[in-house]
Amino acid sequence: KATFDQILLTPRFGRLPGHFYSRILPTPLPAPYLMAWNTELAHEMGFESMAEQQPNLTDYLCGNRLPQGSEPIASIYSGHQFGVNAGQLGDGRAILIAEYLAPNGRHWEMQLKGAGPTPYSRRADGRAVLRSSIREYLCSEAMHGLGIATTRALGMAGSEQSVWREKLETAAVVLRVAPSFVRFGHFEYHRQNPDSLQTLADWVIQSHYPDCALASNPYVALLESVVERTALMIAKWQAVGFCHGVMNSDNMSILGLTLDYGPFGFMDSFDAGHICNHSDSAGRYAYQQQPEIGLWNLHVLAQTLLPLMDKESALHALQSYQGQFENHFANLLRQKLGLLHWQEDDWNLITRLFELMHHSHCDWTYFWRNLPTSGSQLRNHFQDRATFDIWFANYQTRLSTEARNPLERQAAMNRVNPKYVLRNYLAEIAIRKARDEGDFKEIKALQQCLMHPFDEQTNFEHYAELPPEWAAQIGVSCSS
Ligand code: AMP
Ligand code: MG
Ligand code: MG
Repeated sequence: KATFDQILLTPRFGRLPGHFYSRILPTPLPAPYLMAWNTELAHEMGFESMAEQQPNLTDYLCGNRLPQGSEPIASIYSGHQFGVNAGQLGDGRAILIAEYLAPNGRHWEMQLKGAGPTPYSRRADGRAVLRSSIREYLCSEAMHGLGIATTRALGMAGSEQSVWREKLETAAVVLRVAPSFVRFGHFEYHRQNPDSLQTLADWVIQSHYPDCALASNPYVALLESVVERTALMIAKWQAVGFCHGVMNSDNMSILGLTLDYGPFGFMDSFDAGHICNHSDSAGRYAYQQQPEIGLWNLHVLAQTLLPLMDKESALHALQSYQGQFENHFANLLRQKLGLLHWQEDDWNLITRLFELMHHSHCDWTYFWRNLPTSGSQLRNHFQDRATFDIWFANYQTRLSTEARNPLERQAAMNRVNPKYVLRNYLAEIAIRKARDEGDFKEIKALQQCLMHPFDEQTNFEHYAELPPEWAAQIGVSCSS
């Protein structure tokens, strides 16, 4: 099994020419302490799993110690933030320390988030706070458990070092891993220089989309693949009620991974216009906007790639997005309802349910999970009970058109309607315990529960409860 002490690969990203990144060392974190080590992911990666056997684990997790031979990198990118070209950005607090080649042949880039300033920090401090680090750690693992493509989190270290946000907080570092952290924004940065653009596209294809190399125009194939993965990822977000919060093009992964966990939120009460990010006053990134924003970002990417393809091919790739998204989303909803085959009138059934849920602010996760067992009793969660009764009767009629054993149907519904999601208040409880009591057991427990969100877990029943009243008061902003 591999350990940090062994030489990890120099990141393949570091083989790109020097103007794609800067070499930068992490800034030492004073008196670090271990907050989390993801045994399950370590195991999955074939990475040494026992924290105790790694005497320097905490130092590795915060960048105080580097794998032998490591030449850390911060990469340069641009992006459109809230619809506006933001010019040059880059890894302002993320540092790529190594790449790990797993025994199963998979590559993992290892990146420290919050490891100190880089040439791209602008005037910010290069740190991340404990609160947002815990949220990122838990949510990336929760998303993975839900079967949604995402960056992962291998571990996390904290420190008493003060960090000023809206108030005084303390610093933490997450060691996050993914096959690649390349964003749409990386391409945007190099748009003025067609040679660099092509070099980057070739690198992405060679390292991550080898099949595209075989296409008549590999770059068109790349764009088509990114469209495909983005449509699928966002359909899955919508199905579980996940709001990303900051879908700027610099936060969109070229691999279709959920990336950059900031002011995200799983919806408790359903509201089609739900805005999870308090800094997003116009609601650009509201729940119901996400599919369209995905396409908007793909437009930015396609326009950036124009030097490598003709306009018709780019447009053609973009035009497939809507159909793919709707297809995925419809399939997910069909499964959520426990239906085997799509029928003519099903959109109607779904639209009326959405209207009812929106109107009554029904709890998204609770409703779906309890639909097969609570059935008509769910009427108590609706303001207009009579209308719900009509909907439910129609739903029953629809179910009766398919010969399916109810128990089998329920089991199938439970495989798509999670019992557990990372509700804001659950993350908040884990944050408070860590911050106020130095107790990290809640982080571990939540992570273990969220790895299996579709299973009944008797020891974690309390994580499936409806949110307490104070949950509605938790504000989440861009500050992290
Ligand atoms: P985000 O809003 O998280 O997508 O970040 C946008 C840009 O700001 C990226 O280039 C980040 O690296 C940078 N950034 C955010 N927070 C910090 C920070 N505390 N220190 C340095 N750079 C940061
Ligand atoms: Mg970002
Ligand atoms: Mg961020």
